[in-house]
Amino acid sequence: MSVFEELGTEYEEVVFFHDPPSGLRAIVAIHSTTLGPALGGTRFYPFATEQEALRDVLRLARGMTYKAAAAGLDLGGGKAVIIGDPKRMKSEELLRAYGRFIETLGGRYVTAEDIGTDRNDMDVIHRETRYVTGVSPQLGGSGDPSPVTAYGVSLGMIACVEEAWQEPSLSGRRVAVQGVGKVGYHLVKYLIEAGASVVVSDVDVDAVGRVVRDFGVETAEPEKIHAQECDIFAPCAMGAVIRDDTIPDLKCRVVAGSANNQLERAEHGEALADAGILYAPDYVINAGGLINVADELQGYNPERAKARIQSIYRTLREIFHIARDRHISTAAAADAFAEERVGKIGRVRLYWVPGGRGWTKIWNRA
Ligand code: NAD
Repeated sequence: MSVFEELGTEYEEVVFFHDPPSGLRAIVAIHSTTLGPALGGTRFYPFATEQEALRDVLRLARGMTYKAAAAGLDLGGGKAVIIGDPKRMKSEELLRAYGRFIETLGGRYVTAEDIGTDRNDMDVIHRETRYVTGVSPQLGGSGDPSPVTAYGVSLGMIACVEEAWQEPSLSGRRVAVQGVGKVGYHLVKYLIEAGASVVVSDVDVDAVGRVVRDFGVETAEPEKIHAQECDIFAPCAMGAVIRDDTIPDLKCRVVAGSANNQLERAEHGEALADAGILYAPDYVINAGGLINVADELQGYNPERAKARIQSIYRTLREIFHIARDRHISTAAAADAFAEERVGKIGRVRLYWVPGGRGWTKIWNRA
């Protein structure tokens, strides 16, 4: 495999870190720093091959550029992978070696939690580098992002309801929530408070029991939740739930939820539009967690973070407008929205350099 072929013309930098004594093998991919430092989590996963790890980190880094751009953040897109089984390989030595490597990138990449890493790991990494978010509150961290992610999704749903029914409220709407884990639970709370009727499913019976006990919602079988008669289907569990075999079953007007990578393939965005279903692009509606963690870079302020999360509502309204105007799917409109922001802001040549207490902007007149 040619690594350079794999990178194409899109990626700014890909760095391979190797620390044999601790067993660390990591790859950091920086897709773009046009808008600011590339922020994205570290995935610790037993990839079958190095090629698989490289493909994954490249794909995920690119996704972060779009997510940060659409969220209106002064951040670029990047991601990291550590190759190996976290249960067997994770150690203080390995995480600190990794932290030292991140430090050498001088702030062009800022890491965070992802699959296989958690807040405790970020705290260990923080001992070696300041370019890490998602740390404990005592270290300036923003805590569990799930409630604010759910808040962002609930605001995004209001934008969807306005687009679909020209009504400003979720009151009286029926919402089917797939997955009532950390985000789904809080989303159900927001929906019930807003006067919606809710049906939930989860493969974990304890998770279902908790929302039934706390909110008195209806339940459905996990394999049937997407086919519920409802106004909004909210995927809040795993990815690739919108695909060839599930789209014909959908009996909703809107798909809007927190799950990442809801579309199995890009063309499923068009398939939803063709079926008359309004899709809230996942990386736009679920950006609350990223917006929240990004706030740590300025010294975490929960009120400021919450206010910024409200932009999800306005961004979705704008994306729906672009989709209508250009006769494209909302998924394609979200990509166009993000690309145009990177293009426009890139033209004013915004640079970030690491400073004493974070980053300093340098405006460079071209
Ligand atoms: P979680 O693991 O706490 O919850 C997911 C829930 O989905 C679990 O209760 C699990 O049992 C359930 N589930 C798994 N398979 C299912 C199935 N087939 N049918 C029904 N339920 C099933 O995760 P989370 O943090 O709540 O995240 C949910 C989704 O939102 C994920 O896709 C995640 O990547 C995405 N997301 C989360 C955040 C955040 O702030 N936590 C931010 C952005 C995106």
